[in-house]
Amino acid sequence: MQSMNSDPHDILGVSPGATPAELKRAYRRLAMRWHPDRSDHPHATERFKEIGAAYERLLAGDDPEGEEVDAAPEETEAAARAADIRLSLEISLEEAAAGCRKTIHYARGKDCPTCAGTGEHGLSRTRFCGACHGSGRVHDAKRNLVRCEECGGRGLFTERICKDCGGSGRELADVSLDIRVPHGMLPGDELRLVGQGEPGDDELKAGDLFLSIVIAPHPLYQLRGRDVHFRMPVSALAMMAGGDIDVPSLAGVICHGLAAGSAERRELRLVGKGYPGRGKSHAGDLVVELMPVFPSKLSARQRKLLLQANAALLDDAAGALPEIADWRNAHDLD
Ligand SMILES: [Zn+2]
Ligand SMILES: [Zn+2]
Repeated sequence: MQSMNSDPHDILGVSPGATPAELKRAYRRLAMRWHPDRSDHPHATERFKEIGAAYERLLAGDDPEGEEVDAAPEETEAAARAADIRLSLEISLEEAAAGCRKTIHYARGKDCPTCAGTGEHGLSRTRFCGACHGSGRVHDAKRNLVRCEECGGRGLFTERICKDCGGSGRELADVSLDIRVPHGMLPGDELRLVGQGEPGDDELKAGDLFLSIVIAPHPLYQLRGRDVHFRMPVSALAMMAGGDIDVPSLAGVICHGLAAGSAERRELRLVGKGYPGRGKSHAGDLVVELMPVFPSKLSARQRKLLLQANAALLDDAAGALPEIADWRNAHDLD
């Protein structure tokens, strides 16, 4: 048997960041394996005591390695809870703007009922590790004796793998949850559902479920902050003449009176008609990029009307093009 490693993380086989739930699981698994009443290994008693001591040290926060322990309040709170679950929730822009109800499906673990979370069940079978011939140590490339990785330094394998959970000690349960998404959440905002994370037990409160909002791409709109942008083709003639246009917004159609102007690409900003506000954030604007569309295929009637309109516009040719008018006068062309 190898000399006893003094790092409690190594003894329990957990990483330095292990949660209390992970510590407990690791402790229970090892304690069952090495209990002197259950194991006839010559070092079982010693090992069993060592496991208990390591567990208590880690629970008490006595960390000999001096690992970075963030003492922020969040950490303290997390220490009393089972693990949180983080998922993303994709919803449409309309759903996000107005708020919606959703049924979400996810899996969360609970202790396997067959092995009570230990991962071990059934008759014990012990076999020695072939890699280290049961010593728990092997020679490395430099001929130094190091811990055998095959067996984790134990020198033997105890096989009591629970068939129902494959030794993980966990059983995944499928959960359906009806949730309400409030209106006006932005991409990346999180919804916290207290107690819907990994289940707790007699020592730990259940973890929380965090849902990160993802808004699906929209065929028409682009969300920039709380402003909603989109491009809208408008008849070039309407842009020149002015008049009412129907602008689609998240809250329905808005009739907007367009002033007469040039048929050029321009921006129309409808203040407060974009994505709804939330809390202290005001609603965004609806920013419409007006795209002039010139008629292409004309019917005979449309062509006639356009020619009439054009003739009417040319009445003012002298005012619009004085140099040409002067030239025509000089050549007596009128
Ligand atoms: Zn070995
Ligand atoms: Zn099991």
